[in-house]
Amino acid sequence: MSEFIPYGRQSISDEDVKAVVDTLRSDFLTQGPCVPAFQTALKEATGARHAIAVNSATSALHLACMALGLREGDWLWTTPISFAASSNCGLYCGAKVDFVDIEPDTYNMDPRALEQKLEAAATVGKLPKVVVPVHLTGQPCDMREIQALSKRFGFSIIEDASHAVGGTYEGVPVGKCNYSDIAVFSFHPVKIVTTAEGGAALTEDDELARRLELLRSHGITRDPSQMAYEPDGDWYYEQLMLGYNYRLTDLQAALGVSQIKRLETFVEARHRIADRYDRELADLPLQLPVRKEGRRSALHLYVVRVKDEAPIDRKALFDAMRAAGIGVNLHYIPIYRHPYYRDMGFEPLPEAEAYYREAISIPMFPDLSEQQQDRVIDCLRTNLS
Ligand SMILES: *Cc1c(COP(=O)(O)O)cnc(C)c1O
Repeated sequence: MSEFIPYGRQSISDEDVKAVVDTLRSDFLTQGPCVPAFQTALKEATGARHAIAVNSATSALHLACMALGLREGDWLWTTPISFAASSNCGLYCGAKVDFVDIEPDTYNMDPRALEQKLEAAATVGKLPKVVVPVHLTGQPCDMREIQALSKRFGFSIIEDASHAVGGTYEGVPVGKCNYSDIAVFSFHPVKIVTTAEGGAALTEDDELARRLELLRSHGITRDPSQMAYEPDGDWYYEQLMLGYNYRLTDLQAALGVSQIKRLETFVEARHRIADRYDRELADLPLQLPVRKEGRRSALHLYVVRVKDEAPIDRKALFDAMRAAGIGVNLHYIPIYRHPYYRDMGFEPLPEAEAYYREAISIPMFPDLSEQQQDRVIDCLRTNLS
């Protein structure tokens, strides 16, 4: 039996190891200098005015919803083809959630479906307060169109850019928030750069940044200019709102600082692998990922869809690849299909359902070797021709 190839994995250098070990021997394991340094690196990589590093993208999504004032009685809309965290963040705030169908080529939220749903919601007074487009696989959504709708219908936008660190839209790095209020990154090991667990919220807005920073750490401030009362003494701090402990540690931030230096290298490696898949799989009965004009995908995932004319269906192909030691995966089960969500009574969405019948994520990570990639390609070829 040959070695198992996962669909994604981290790439850790000796320099990464040294950065973490050095921090471990330093004065601060948390609340030290590494978190601000990581935030500076994120701002430099994206051009964003503010970056608030937290312990996961899930936490960043939760804080983003809170900072935008999402609460009971409000609606949050997102795409069903995402990790459940994209909608769970709305539920954390007591809001209701709903789903917008996807485009058949990018599998991102379809701005035309969004427009229709908004028009219908406007007539019954159930417009969303927050919409969360997800840059699936790292491919940026139609942000220009979604922002135009936000102005017409008055909602805020949180980009779930968990897959898209290192991507660009109209030549501008994802995370710059030219078309959104807040963008969220994930640094889970399968994503583009890693801090083990970790995430960040980026924004251009000073007030949103202030709230995000407070909420990350209990809602507490030590900054006299933010306080409601005169400090009683040097020990004094104030809790201004009900926040959480969503802090990233300095060990994690040190890894992040080291990793983000290789952001370009990582994304370029992903593109090299994707180019080779594009060439080698072109004649098979698969729908390959599209490359959209004016956008650069970070290529977190390489998703293929098994066409109707293929000799075997998706499930059979999935099982055959797993049996051959290839860690194919499925991103994602439509969120409304999870039992927790089913009880809320959603209608299935046709494009999301078609995607769910046909999609497979095949291995894609910077250290995937040519030999490993050959095994993936050969296995697809054997099963599909
Ligand atoms: C990974 C992921 C998240 C959650 O990220 P964590 O850092 O693990 O909390 C949220 N949304 C999407 C689209 C993701 O892929």
